[in-house]
Amino acid sequence: MDKNYFCLECNQPITQGVFNFSVQQLGIPLCMYHQDWINQMSEQSTFEAISLYFELKQRGVPAELEKFDGFKHIDLAISEAKINIEVDGGHHNYSYEQAMADLKRTYHSFKKGFYTVRIPNVLIHGRIQETADYIVGILNENLKRNYR
Ligand SMILES: [Zn+2]
Repeated sequence: MDKNYFCLECNQPITQGVFNFSVQQLGIPLCMYHQDWINQMSEQSTFEAISLYFELKQRGVPAELEKFDGFKHIDLAISEAKINIEVDGGHHNYSYEQAMADLKRTYHSFKKGFYTVRIPNVLIHGRIQETADYIVGILNENLKRNYR
């Protein structure tokens, strides 16, 4: 094993070959096990949610992908900061039904102490670094509030 290459998900060392293959295929370094894992996750998770997940991971954020809250899967959940993140495509803004369903979900999560941050896909495509930095800011503020 080469000491210079690590899986972004589990931090286990990986070979240069595995590193190169993973970065080429997925854009991020993952061990073989987590390459399979992320390929499976991509059946239910969007490309945008997965991209943001790893962007946050690189900033040390303990996010969970597709966390089940008893009703539905949340795109990204950061339980210790009590923040849920939903990464939405444009269709969430165009239909009353979808927008109202989202608002109801936000309400029910909020009653349980979780605030939902909605991130439009367009930010992932054009401004992912800045978006992830702001999310880290929100997480830090909420952590301070929860433990004050
Ligand atoms: Zn791994």
